[in-house]
Amino acid sequence: MTDRSDVAAGTRQVPADGMYTVGQARAAVLERIRPLGVERVPLTEAVNRMLADDLVAPYDNPPHDNSAMDGFAVRHADVAGATPASPVILQVLEDIPAGKVPQLAVGAGQASRIMTGALVPEGADTVIRVEDTQDHGDSVDILEPEDEAGENVRCRGEDMKGGEALIAAGTELGPGEIGVLATVQRPYVVVGRRPTVAILSSGDELVEVGDERGPGQIVNSNTPALGAVVRASGADPVLLPTAADSESAIRASIEAAMGCDFIVSSGGVSVGDYDYVKKVLVDLGAEEVLWRVAMKPGKPLYFCLLRGTPYFGLPGNPVSSLVSFLQFVRPAIRKATGYPEAAWSLPQSTARIEHDLVNDGERRNFLRARLRLDGDGRLTASTAHRAQGSHMMTSMLGANGFVVLDPEQAVVAGDPVDVQILGDVAGP
Ligand code: AMP
Ligand code: MG
Repeated sequence: MTDRSDVAAGTRQVPADGMYTVGQARAAVLERIRPLGVERVPLTEAVNRMLADDLVAPYDNPPHDNSAMDGFAVRHADVAGATPASPVILQVLEDIPAGKVPQLAVGAGQASRIMTGALVPEGADTVIRVEDTQDHGDSVDILEPEDEAGENVRCRGEDMKGGEALIAAGTELGPGEIGVLATVQRPYVVVGRRPTVAILSSGDELVEVGDERGPGQIVNSNTPALGAVVRASGADPVLLPTAADSESAIRASIEAAMGCDFIVSSGGVSVGDYDYVKKVLVDLGAEEVLWRVAMKPGKPLYFCLLRGTPYFGLPGNPVSSLVSFLQFVRPAIRKATGYPEAAWSLPQSTARIEHDLVNDGERRNFLRARLRLDGDGRLTASTAHRAQGSHMMTSMLGANGFVVLDPEQAVVAGDPVDVQILGDVAGP
């Protein structure tokens, strides 16, 4: 598939029409992002964090041979010929529950009653399942032998060997990794520091969620939605009060955001009479990196460094702000956290489109899509669930991906299309 995430070397100049391509903009942003370093957190808080150092097994696990079944620990040679009609009768030496150390070695003609997870006693090499025995207390009838010695015994080191590489630095910790870290005695782990992201909305028309909405006003949906996508991207949002459309209000809000690792604002970066954000940033001494990206939704993206802090001026339209965030801010957060490059962007794949689509514009389209697996297990995509306007928040409902269409690209139902994956993909 076409690489949608990066840009060929030597194509980084601003295009003649003044717009950056998505790849150029992404490269220009990412080359200015530095990893933030690491911190030590309790293992119980480490899920979804990025492991900073390679994990090597400090010892064998299981530490000792132990039983995989409830049953009897025996010598395989003793029981090889056992049948229900002619059982092998063994003397029972002791009970070995999980957590107890066996006291007696199993000799010829002997067995010990053993539970799942308990240490296999010296002398025994096999565990016979309780279902294949008749227990008489001091003795046991073995009704069925196991085929081979070693059956139902979990051997020392078969889960992990001391010195074995287990988890590579840069891995996001999920429940399985947390379990492995616990197994190797790590009550604390060193992970990439989670960035803080200031979120600032601006606009005279905005009222907060739950406040009364007057004529001409709309609810500020960007602050909560951006707060959510910040969290989902592995960072901590810092929600700032909404700024009015005035230079002084915007300046005060931006000053309040300093100290965070990133600043993300929405609105006020377009070409309207009340779009003051860029002007304020320039007055504050920001070093402008880019403005305007050839994408739809999301053209009026502004990116600068404000006293070294990466500042993203996202468009105000709700869908534009979320799509721009996912294309540029999320990769920046991931890079700053310390993830390897392959994990910066949303996962990409190819899907079969379910209907005709055409991009007759000049900007790369990111269409909100529902992805699913069809009966044959192939990824399919549809963008027909809702209208696709950049002000239409409902186009994001149920959207677990984007269909990416380049300018002039037309596809018909059944064609392959490039997609980015946002969430879980279910079957038919
Ligand atoms: P702007 O970029 O400020 O010109 O805003 C573009 C569009 O997005 C306008 O229709 C705004 O009303 C809308 N908008 C801006 N900020 C927000 C916000 N925080 N929540 C919802 N809509 C917004
Ligand atoms: Mg505005």
